[in-house]
Parts: sequence; C-alpha cells; structure tokens
Amino acid sequence: MWGIMRATRAIIHLERLKANLAEIRKRIGPKPAICIPVKADAYGHGAVRVGIAAIKAGAKFLAVASVQEGIELREAGIVAPILLFSLPIPEELEDVVRFHITPLVPDAEFAHLVGKTAEQLGEVLPVHIKIDTGMGRIGCRPETALELVKAIEAYPSLHWEGTATHLSVADSLDPDDRAYTEKQLERFNEAVDRLRQGGYNPGILHAANSGAVVLYENSYFDMVRPGLLAYGYPPIPSLSGIVPVKPVMELQTHVVFVKRVHSGESISYGRIWKAPQETSIGTLPIGYADGLPRRLSGKLSLSIKGVRYPLVGRICMDQCMIDLGRDSPVQRWEPVTVFGGTEADPTAADLAELVGTIPYEITCGINKRVPRVYVE
Ligand SMILES: *Cc1c(COP(=O)(O)O)cnc(C)c1O
Repeated sequence: MWGIMRATRAIIHLERLKANLAEIRKRIGPKPAICIPVKADAYGHGAVRVGIAAIKAGAKFLAVASVQEGIELREAGIVAPILLFSLPIPEELEDVVRFHITPLVPDAEFAHLVGKTAEQLGEVLPVHIKIDTGMGRIGCRPETALELVKAIEAYPSLHWEGTATHLSVADSLDPDDRAYTEKQLERFNEAVDRLRQGGYNPGILHAANSGAVVLYENSYFDMVRPGLLAYGYPPIPSLSGIVPVKPVMELQTHVVFVKRVHSGESISYGRIWKAPQETSIGTLPIGYADGLPRRLSGKLSLSIKGVRYPLVGRICMDQCMIDLGRDSPVQRWEPVTVFGGTEADPTAADLAELVGTIPYEITCGINKRVPRVYVE
C-alpha cells in the first residue's frame, strides 16, 4: 500500500498541498501568478513530486536555491520555468543555460558572465533582475537597476523577463518591522517606476514570501513566492488561520517494542529519566539521525490515535522511547504520529517552538533515511 515500507516515514499529503494553494489563491485573488519554492528538496517534502503537484495545482513557476536542484527538476521532466534564488559560481553557468534555469541577476558582472555563456551555447536565457530593497543578501541597489538592465540588454542571449525583490521582516507584526516592509515595497515601486520611465518593461514583478502573502496585499504584484505557507505553516504561529493551511508533511513512526518497567528503572543514555512508578514503555525506531532533534528529549509528546504520550529519556541516534502509562491500551506495532497528522497532533511548528527554531528547520531536517510516501 505504501511503496517503500519503513516503520518511520514522512507521509506527504499532496491533497493538502493542493488545498493550501487554493487558499493562497483565495487570498491573492485571480491575477497574480504563483511561484512555489521547492528549494531544499521542497523544504524536505521532495522537490520533484511537490513540483509536479504544484504545477498541476496551478503554480506557474518553481524556485530552487542551487543549480543542482534545478537540474533534478529538469531531469524529472519538469518544463515549467524555474527561478534560481541563490547565485551560482561561474563554473555552474553552463548548466544554468543548458537546463534553462532562470537566474536572479544582481549586478552587471553576473549579467556579463551569464550573457556570454548563453551566447556561446547559442541559447536565449530568461533572467530576472534582483533589487536589494533591504534584505541585504543579493541584488542591486534600487538606484542602479537601470544600469543593470542596460548590461542585460547588451546581450541578445538574455531575455529580461522579470524584476524581483525579497522582504526581510514581512512575517512580523512589530510596528518597526511593518514600517520597514512598507519602506522596502516603496523602494521596489520607485525602482520599477524608474525603469518604466527609462522606457523599459520590467516584466513579471514579484516580492512576496509567505509572510507578505498573509500580511501585505500591496506586495502581490504579478507573482507571489510563498514557500512555508504552501507546506502548511503560517509564517509565525500568531498568524495562523488568516490563510487556513494544513501541514503537508506527516511524520509517522511505529511502536516496535513495549515493555513493563518498575519504579526507579532508568531509560536511555545518560539515565536522565527514571520511572516514577511502574509503567509501560514503548520504543520507536526514530532518532536524531532521522531529523528528530535530540534537544526534544523529555520535551515532546507524540500522538497515538490522538492521545499524547511523552518522550522519556534521551533521544538516541536511531530510536527513542515514550511512556505509555500504567494501563495503556497501546499495542505493539501501532502507528505513532510525530507531527502533522490530524488537528489533534503536534505540528512541526510545535516541535520548532520547543527547541527554539522555526518550522522550516524541522521539515528540512527530516533527512534522506526517512522515506517519503506520497498520498494524493
Ligand atoms: C525561500 C524564499 C522564499 C519563500 O520563503 P517563505 O518564507 O518560505 O515563504 C521566497 N523568496 C525567496 C527569494 C526565497 O529565498
């Protein structure tokens, strides 16, 4: 039924991805296109399957962070436009051109390098310019966008297709952050106006990540690029419900061993937990090497049929233990949800909060050893 069988697996609910895209569409209205970032193996969900599902659900663009990620999509037969969010080194440019991956161009030097490569290969490559309006990562200063466009124009091998910026605090409700985001959008609008006044068509304009989709209607332009929201998480917990999305990844494992322990007996490495009374302990074949952070030891409760059971003792590399209680009805071989099953279950955001990180890091951290099982 499940393809690859392993007791521990990430069930990827593509039907929820589709529903999340429908919610995003409801939010942004009929006009803006949707670009789905599938970088980092689609935030751990599997780039190829997610990419195909996203396009079927109406996404026009996909986006990756590395050339290699773009190649993976092309080799799987995906022909949709693929944006490249990070900068490649010159040695990677041939692949950028050959695999028709659309780079974000931040300066004239990069425009020359990629323009020449495309020229040598006899191709015409679409590019978007990237304007740094305050993220401080890659992009030209807004006042130099016109120069950059002229550098691109010098190469018939480049087709200037769009203009982008990225927002650094769009997921924050803090008044200073809100003012900063408005300032970034204003700078972007001014730069775009200057390009138009210079006689250019800036093409597809895009700026919005998940936070901006939820909070800034004036950031939608011609295309939005929500990642986290598509995967089922609001940008911050207090913004949940505005765009009602559901976790796409359900991390599941199984109870593979159950034993009785007596009061005072210890569980796992370091003996940090001792049974306060007689109880049943279940062993699960999932550990930090699967991406369950070791720092969750003693903090998280996992869900069996909607009932929570606390992790006890240290999380090991490949296994961990839960306290099933004295008179638990839980049987050996029962499935256990770590996160993302039903609404009663923990979410990746809950795990993230317990260890002081963000849900992105939790889903990205579920690694290769955990098979992805796709349900539509
Ligand atoms: C990762 C990324 C996004 C998506 O961010 P989310 O917070 O997941 O919505 C959008 N744009 C750029 C440039 C990115 O690097």
